[in-house]
Amino acid sequence: MNSLPIDFFRLDNELTAVQIQLRDQVRAFVQQVVLPHINPYWEQAAFPWEIVRQLPTLPVMGGTLTAPGCAGLDPISMGLVRYELAKGDGSVGTFYGVQSGLVMGSIGLLGSAEQQARWLPALASLDKIGSFGLTEPERGSDAAHVLTTAVRQGNSYVLNGRKRWIGNAPIADLLIVWAKDENGRFGGFVVEDPRQTEGVHIETMTGKIAKRAVLNGDIRLENVRIPAANRLEKAHSFRDTAKVLAFTRYAVAWEAAGLAAACLEQALAYAKSREQFGQPIAGFQLIQEKLVEMTAEVTQMQLLCLRLGQLMASGELDESMVALAKYNNARKARRVASLAREVLGGNGILIENHIARHLTDAEAIYTYEGTNEINMLIVGRALTGLGAFV
Ligand SMILES: Cc1cc2nc3c(=O)[nH]c(=O)nc-3n(C[C@H](O)[C@H](O)[C@H](O)COP(=O)(O)OP(=O)(O)OC[C@H]3O[C@@H](n4cnc5c(N)ncnc54)[C@H](O)[C@@H]3O)c2cc1C
Repeated sequence: MNSLPIDFFRLDNELTAVQIQLRDQVRAFVQQVVLPHINPYWEQAAFPWEIVRQLPTLPVMGGTLTAPGCAGLDPISMGLVRYELAKGDGSVGTFYGVQSGLVMGSIGLLGSAEQQARWLPALASLDKIGSFGLTEPERGSDAAHVLTTAVRQGNSYVLNGRKRWIGNAPIADLLIVWAKDENGRFGGFVVEDPRQTEGVHIETMTGKIAKRAVLNGDIRLENVRIPAANRLEKAHSFRDTAKVLAFTRYAVAWEAAGLAAACLEQALAYAKSREQFGQPIAGFQLIQEKLVEMTAEVTQMQLLCLRLGQLMASGELDESMVALAKYNNARKARRVASLAREVLGGNGILIENHIARHLTDAEAIYTYEGTNEINMLIVGRALTGLGAFV
């Protein structure tokens, strides 16, 4: 199927030549490196090293960060990177989101200059794989109240607790553990070589229906001793962690838009080529209704992302704007993927047509980086001045 990129409102006209060049470079990577190879990895729930190890050939690691080893992209370029990767595959996009966003973002935004110089270049080149451990079995949306502890003992911290859903953990060389210290203060604690560190137990989660080609870990930390110097220097409270989450949630809004655009493009190409009752199904009113609904949603998502990028570039972006975009786009992506699946009939169930991957990945996007409800509550609080979280 030959599918063309959807840009109904000519948003390409709003992009700079530099942004278009990077976007096209990532698009070519997806066409040549991701799409021809991803499906067996997804089917076998295997990590696609063959694909992922080539990511540093693109100038994208670290997104907008300007710290050592980082790409220093403008916000719209960073969004376009995530959009294009999501059009290829959600697991590759999530790997990038964890490594470049959650991990490099935590160190780039909250680490000291020494910590940045120590860890960021190796993360950018993928010589080290990073992992971001916030969620716990008992603390998901309520992540501000983690149960994991980091108690200072001389020149060390001793970590105890559990973490769940932690992306890249089974292959991680560096694990950021979010925990409360002996004074109840929130902090980020970097465990180097976690798989070789005494007291760290990491199991790969199995049975996932979404993001199957990225590995998530279930972690137990038992008296894990790390140097005190491995505490992220500028992380003092959950509000600091929330700065990292706003940085990555911004990219997830673009991710949802990219996923939806891929579904629309596939569905449109299929509808034009598939014939029933002696004519292309694209000529049926009921199919056109679905295609138009998808186009309206994708166009709205693209507009929202572009404006979000402009607001980030001008320094006006706040967490409620990011939350509104993530809330809107994650919901819409779910709907668009489902409509696209319908247009492909039985073929929509087969992973060879790619939409099946996007359909289930949309479920993970709906839940991670703040569930739909939590993002709704962030916007509700901004509108009313009243928090309705409890
Ligand atoms: C594929 C995948 C990858 C992930 N990667 C990572 C990672 O790398 N690192 C990491 O730390 N975490 C990761 N997560 C965890 C993710 O951030 C959590 O799943 C998410 O925060 C929700 O937590 P939970 O699943 O425990 O759901 P819960 O918080 O238990 O929520 C269950 C339901 O209750 C709703 N709810 C909760 N509180 C409220 C409220 N106050 N009002 C109304 N409704 C509410 C939720 O919206 C949801 O619908 C990942 C998750 C997935 C699925």
